[in-house]
Amino acid sequence: MSEMVTAVISLGANLGDPQQQITAALTALNQIDGVRIKAISPFYQTKPVGVTTQPDFINAVILVNTTLDPHRLLQNLQQLELNFGRERTIRFGPRTLDLDIIDYNGQKRNDLELILPHPRAHDRAFVMVPLARIAPYYPIGDQGTAATLAKKLLQEKPREKVKVLV
Ligand code: AMP
Repeated sequence: MSEMVTAVISLGANLGDPQQQITAALTALNQIDGVRIKAISPFYQTKPVGVTTQPDFINAVILVNTTLDPHRLLQNLQQLELNFGRERTIRFGPRTLDLDIIDYNGQKRNDLELILPHPRAHDRAFVMVPLARIAPYYPIGDQGTAATLAKKLLQEKPREKVKVLV
């Protein structure tokens, strides 16, 4: 355990009942020792990126306060993915629950298990649009704030348009 810091986590699901999975995952996340959810974005329905012949995703982003170090946080998220029955078969393929650390206290890191900030987050409307709703000024590495990145992505990649669900 270390000092309390802010981290950003993204949630995504497109198998089973995705909305229910995300809701259940939020409850489970908040029950992790050393993790407290501070803000939850609306849920968004998004078209799959990469492998496009799969169901739409439900995505959300949360801000947490955590006393866990980044690796311990990742381990907890991976355990949760397993608990939710995620099968790691196809990269970018369907999953019952996908959890990523988007940012951890502005920390930069690039090791075998963990890259921070998440290397593709700034390029994903389904992460930046939800984040912009709860923390518009949140900086993503040197890429800009959530709000400026969300605006840019929606202009540049209108096909990645995301639909607010709840
Ligand atoms: P994915 O299948 O897209 O969820 O990727 C999972 C893999 O990405 C795991 O092996 C993680 O160790 C690695 N990884 C690297 N950086 C991150 C990050 N910021 N958040 C979550 N997983 C990460």
